[in-house]
Amino acid sequence: MDEFFDVVIVGTGAAGLYCALNLPERMTVLLLTKRKAEDSDSFLAQGGICMQCGESDYELYMEDTLRAGHYENDRRAVDLMIRSSNSILRDLIHRGVRFACHEDGSLDFTREGGHSRPRILYHKDVTGREITQTLLDEVLKRDNLILREETTMLDLITDDTACGGIVAAGPDGVPYTVGAGAVVLACGGIGGLFKNSTNFPHITGDALAMAMRRGIPVKHLDYIQIHPTTLYSKKPGRKFLISESARGEGALLYDRNGRRFTDELQPRDLLSAAIHAQMEKDGTDFVWEDLRPLGRETIRAHFPNICDYCKDEGYDVFREPIPVVPAQHYFMGGIQVDLSSRTAMPRLYACGEISCNGVHGRNRLASNSLLESLVFAQRAADDILFGSPPAFRGTAPDLAPYREQEPLFAAYREEILNEMERMRKSHE
Ligand SMILES: Cc1cc2nc3c(=O)[nH]c(=O)nc-3n(C[C@H](O)[C@H](O)[C@H](O)COP(=O)(O)OP(=O)(O)OC[C@H]3O[C@@H](n4cnc5c(N)ncnc54)[C@H](O)[C@@H]3O)c2cc1C
Repeated sequence: MDEFFDVVIVGTGAAGLYCALNLPERMTVLLLTKRKAEDSDSFLAQGGICMQCGESDYELYMEDTLRAGHYENDRRAVDLMIRSSNSILRDLIHRGVRFACHEDGSLDFTREGGHSRPRILYHKDVTGREITQTLLDEVLKRDNLILREETTMLDLITDDTACGGIVAAGPDGVPYTVGAGAVVLACGGIGGLFKNSTNFPHITGDALAMAMRRGIPVKHLDYIQIHPTTLYSKKPGRKFLISESARGEGALLYDRNGRRFTDELQPRDLLSAAIHAQMEKDGTDFVWEDLRPLGRETIRAHFPNICDYCKDEGYDVFREPIPVVPAQHYFMGGIQVDLSSRTAMPRLYACGEISCNGVHGRNRLASNSLLESLVFAQRAADDILFGSPPAFRGTAPDLAPYREQEPLFAAYREEILNEMERMRKSHE
């Protein structure tokens, strides 16, 4: 192999960074990301991160998550996430993440669709940036953590029993091998495969194809969440999210005649379906969202990023409703993992959006994904530390097939889309 690290982590979103920070400083860790470190969906999260609000909230939080997931969730995974939420949030605050507080210093909780009570911590409407930037700053300070930007994982290196590293390429496109005691796939969702998505376009689920080629089980590739409200625009590129917490705080949806047509706080899949039905009935490409019921002060204090973005697009949220349309947003399926984020292949882990541990079932409850990413990234780090996987006896692969990367990624894309379609049909 050209290089060796104790652990290689693919992806520098919340899952990858938190996994790295939970590994001991004696381990050498390589983190890599396709683009700049800030170009991850974790940076885009607006609404917030869930937390169990006292013991009396346990059953309610469990039920909200299961109901949103159509009861297809793995109860043990949900239990683990909920029970871990307080210690994870305490740890984030300890690391310097700032959440909105009341004047007396107590935490302020907001609410989103599908939640029966407010239990979401937030930082204005840029919660993901606040959390992920704090983790990134800490990673950059640690000598044992090497972060490589503009570096793409091209494939896994495996033998008959285990994973032994990855093939990667930097900005010059020249492939090289990196051996590792453990590989953690923290490479996010699949939004880049869709024309209309809130995700970064370079996040294309490549690891799914790499896993499938080796017979590593993947699950529910057709469980794709459509977010009900993104700002309608004819411009190409990433769709801008109008956070669900705007509706949680009182924003209303109107049809073409300015009349409400549905319950704004139902789970995302049901609300997206209701909006699509209304658009079809009205013959429009969007419906209207009105933030004015929140009042000027709340809009300005809680949603400054949304206000500014809408203003740049020519809409004044203080004076008029804005056009919104559903778009692809989140991936509930992924590489199948157990409660320690282990895939079926020894020494290969997956956490965050690329993994499927069963927390979300068929539909994710709002603001559960950052929490889920962090909880199961920590579980991966624990297992790497305490596990005793079999040795890797393979050798470095021939790099010739990796010199041309466009056809490689085109093939990955096709394999993922085909498998998605196959799974979708099997559910019909
Ligand atoms: C607009 C928006 C708003 C959201 N709001 C919320 C919210 O309020 N609350 C909430 O809980 N969740 C929210 N989510 C979802 C949440 O942000 C993500 O599910 C979560 O951050 C996923 O984290 P991750 O670390 O798994 O992946 P990401 O943060 O997406 O990171 C993926 C990383 O993998 C890298 N990568 C991918 N493929 C490769 C490859 N082949 N080689 C090298 N690197 C690769 C990428 O460059 C990136 O660094 C939101 C998502 C979006 C898009």
